[in-house]
Amino acid sequence: MSVLNRWWTQLRRRRDERTLRRRAIPEPLWQLTLARFPFLARRDARDLSALRALATLFLAEKEFHGAHGLAITDEIAVAIAAQACLPVLRLGLHQYSGFVGIVVHADEVVARREVMDDDGVVHHYDETLTGEAMEGGPIMLSWTDVESAGETAEWGYNVVIHEFAHVLDMRDGVPNGVPLLPDRAARDAWCEVMDGEFSLFCRRIDAGEETLLDPYGAESVDEFFAVASEVFFVAPGDLLAEHPALYSLLSRYYLQDPAAAV
Ligand SMILES: [Zn+2]
Repeated sequence: MSVLNRWWTQLRRRRDERTLRRRAIPEPLWQLTLARFPFLARRDARDLSALRALATLFLAEKEFHGAHGLAITDEIAVAIAAQACLPVLRLGLHQYSGFVGIVVHADEVVARREVMDDDGVVHHYDETLTGEAMEGGPIMLSWTDVESAGETAEWGYNVVIHEFAHVLDMRDGVPNGVPLLPDRAARDAWCEVMDGEFSLFCRRIDAGEETLLDPYGAESVDEFFAVASEVFFVAPGDLLAEHPALYSLLSRYYLQDPAAAV
């Protein structure tokens, strides 16, 4: 590490320590957040303390905006920060350095879309969004969906983890279901498991089968990675039981074994 690098690292560490001291998430609000989201609360004391620190730094770094006059309360900001930091608990907050803004809507949003078909004819349609992630931000989230994440964990649904999995996926600039991985071998191993699981999943959806993962995952391999990540964090035991290879792949990437905490 160069002198400049070392100096920069020290400076950042000192800044983080100051943020953690001065802007710590108040205990009652943290307890409320854990009570609301049992998939966070069941983590051990070490994970929870790391998550709280990471969420504090996240809140200092990111900018929240309420759409159409929605007031961003501490409760809203901490609920989002705590869930958003779960996937990067071991990977580090720098994974989210590519964006700053988070736009929160009171509820889901209807977006007007247009597509051009092969004959050059433009078709309009409405798409209902509970969240959206774009490269460089901002991230859009529906508070109704964020707030109910404790209950919806039962069927593996989590909008915050879904959108932040897209952020991780887009770190290399392409939303293709492949996050930044250390080397070519890791990338090849990733694609082998992910592509195999995705093809099998699409066949099951086409056959009308009931699946643990949200059928929306059949849209594309990047959506498949996002929905698999949701279940990995909020219903890990189910993912391990139904998709052991996929669970193991995500466990190696996120450097976490959430099924062990259930
Ligand atoms: Zn998505």
